Amino acid sequence: MIKGSCLCGKTQVNADFMKNQIIVCHCSMCLKQAAGPIFYSYGLSLDDYRFTETSEVAIFASSENAERGFCQSCGTFLFMRYKKDTSTYFNIELFDEIDKSLAKEIHLKDKKGYYSLTT
Ligand SMILES: [Zn+2]
Ligand SMILES: [Zn+2]
Repeated sequence: MIKGSCLCGKTQVNADFMKNQIIVCHCSMCLKQAAGPIFYSYGLSLDDYRFTETSEVAIFASSENAERGFCQSCGTFLFMRYKKDTSTYFNIELFDEIDKSLAKEIHLKDKKGYYSLTT
């Protein structure tokens, strides 16, 4: 289990990562929410993680298919979760201890021209 936390520390989560690889999402919703692409974990099932401090976790239904969690105390984006299968993609920067390696970029058609990543 790897510990993660938001910027203010009021939201705490333990997660079990099978892969340390990162997915970068350039979709318009991520860009709007984060002012840039979001670096995600691979999808975790509900059994793979547990919030140990949940009092500040708020959920926003961002589309028909998915919802986004954030810390309502500090605003840190926490995760995107599909409603259908509950697979959960975490903001990988919640987790300081994990070795990170960039695996793929998605929604490149929405990517803006003013920034670039080298994968
Ligand atoms: Zn917080
Ligand atoms: Zn996205």
